[in-house]
Amino acid sequence: MIKPFFLSLVIMLAIIAISSCRQSKKDQAHDALVSHVDSTIKPGDDFFLFANGKWFRQHPIHASEVYNGFNQLMEELSYTQIRKICESSAAIKNAQRGSVKQLIGDFYYSGMDSVSRNKKGLSELSGDLARIEVIRDLRGIINFSAYIQSLGGSSLFDFGIGQDEKINCKNAVYFAQEGLSLPDRYYYFDTNSQSVSIRKKFINHAESVFISLGYSKNRARAAAGKLMELETALAGNTRNADETRDPWMNYHKMTYQQFSELTPDIDWNIFMDYFGLHNVDSVIVRQPEFFAALNKDIRSYPVDSWKIYLTYHFVRAMAAYADDKTYREFFNFYASTLNGTKEQWKRSKLISEQTNDALGELIGQVYVDKYIHKGTKEKLVEIGNTIKTVFAERIKALDWMSSATKEKALNKLNTMRMRVGYPDKWRDLSTIKIDRSSYMKNEMNVNQWEYKYMISQYGKPVDRNVWRINPQSFDAEYDPAENTVTITDFNINIPGYEHKIADDAILYAIIGTTFGHEITHGFDDQGCQYNAQGNLQNWWFSEDSVKFYARTEMIIKQFNRYIAIDTLHINGELTQGENIADLGGLILAYEAFKKTTQFKNNEIVEGLNPRQRFFLGYAFSNMVSIRPEYAVYLAKSDEHSLPKFRVNGPLSNMPEFYETFGVKKGDALWVPDSLRVKIW
Ligand SMILES: [Zn+2]
Repeated sequence: MIKPFFLSLVIMLAIIAISSCRQSKKDQAHDALVSHVDSTIKPGDDFFLFANGKWFRQHPIHASEVYNGFNQLMEELSYTQIRKICESSAAIKNAQRGSVKQLIGDFYYSGMDSVSRNKKGLSELSGDLARIEVIRDLRGIINFSAYIQSLGGSSLFDFGIGQDEKINCKNAVYFAQEGLSLPDRYYYFDTNSQSVSIRKKFINHAESVFISLGYSKNRARAAAGKLMELETALAGNTRNADETRDPWMNYHKMTYQQFSELTPDIDWNIFMDYFGLHNVDSVIVRQPEFFAALNKDIRSYPVDSWKIYLTYHFVRAMAAYADDKTYREFFNFYASTLNGTKEQWKRSKLISEQTNDALGELIGQVYVDKYIHKGTKEKLVEIGNTIKTVFAERIKALDWMSSATKEKALNKLNTMRMRVGYPDKWRDLSTIKIDRSSYMKNEMNVNQWEYKYMISQYGKPVDRNVWRINPQSFDAEYDPAENTVTITDFNINIPGYEHKIADDAILYAIIGTTFGHEITHGFDDQGCQYNAQGNLQNWWFSEDSVKFYARTEMIIKQFNRYIAIDTLHINGELTQGENIADLGGLILAYEAFKKTTQFKNNEIVEGLNPRQRFFLGYAFSNMVSIRPEYAVYLAKSDEHSLPKFRVNGPLSNMPEFYETFGVKKGDALWVPDSLRVKIW
């Protein structure tokens, strides 16, 4: 499904650090792990800060970023490679139409052409804005919402085609809640001063947007107020982030007829016709009550209010590809006010990232030809297989799981597919229309092409060869509906070890934990609801669930105790799935590392024994400092705990860590045996 604007903006703005964040020459003389340690901190009090503190002091967060750390170092390397691919493609003036280099090069060129972009301003949107002006009824509202969605924007709700979670060979039509400008429901209703101030600033921002479209000050002010009123109504109908986690609660298959009856005033044929989708007999509705409420709202608010909503969401969808003034207006609200970013990226970085966002699959094809280290795939496969072997051993030895469930778990583990490196097959993108004349049009064309592609998958079997992540990105995922782990080539790069493959302690601590984390997702509170084939079907016996949930209860309580910032605690309920995966990944990676010669021979590297290097390496992979505004946003809505607790939390449960660093009763991280969580 296509990313909403806000998300892609956050991704665009939050991805990469600037060159000053690279390690200094002085540091490179030493091993990265050794040079980051802050020896004034006791490891048993705060291992996260002990392992990373010195680096944090030497590398403050840059004004154009919301955080700085391991990911920024990785992404800085990735960005440098992506930019080179973009620049060298753009340097070819007469590349063959539809070729990889032509598409990348012209897209990038049009984005870098500031003169033409700024001259056009928002004029390219005027035809569509005039279409909104003449909307008179619900039909027009639905029709234009479809158009905004086809451009990658968000309007009223989310729609997409993807694998049916209960019949995994079939693609189905999904409808879900969406259409808000602020990131989550609570932004509209929280009464704390921060939320109140964000709402005020949002109204001011919307007013400026309307003024830039030619509204008078009074009319713009009134429009911004109406937009906020509508969005607050929509927000009132949406579920909280933690209520969207349960796949059963968010899967409601109904016939097309039933969906139409749920929303009697909305004619879905208008929407389906827009995309040329005919003969849809059933749909999966993630939050039926949202659509029932939308049906009411769409009737009770005047058409003029919806036109204001459509206008804002349409401009918002294209703002990141418009002139500098429009971009700055949206940046100021979404990146600065919401996330605390102080400064914009320089143009070449922004356009490289946007090109990668739009055409990442094409950039990936050049990347694998140009940048992959020899032996990468083999090393990743070795680590992945060792982790799988260790997990099988541990499942067999679990004291809380029944033997019948163990058999199913082992079957699921054996069936699990590993996709490593880069895809065997690439999609043919040669028909996307891209030229050097308009950046905005190029972006529209890419999104509409992607939408058409998505629609074309309806009724077809799921194509298992298409990856959602690109080889040049620092990324890995587990897809429960496919029972597949995907890990990209790029993961082999470790900052500070770019010119050699790092030692196994580091590789297992960083890549091994990633593998382990992703694999355990197939067996946690969400993964147990999908069977070996990836279909939504709980394969546990009820007594196993009871025992598992007793353990997850412990990890929820453990993380609820942690204070994220000021008085705000980590949300143990929301983050439980990720915390379980972090803990599982850490244990599996450690056990797998024990099978390497470095561990067996107790090889000392840079004065550190294998166990010390492993735990420091794990803290290194979570070495991230975050701006307070962004930390609040993450603590409230991200399913992952903040980096500090992704380190200190799992380690507090691990006796091997206590032994390695001499953690004793009285140290802040020390937890009595009865409270240490053991799941995998
Ligand atoms: Zn995860």
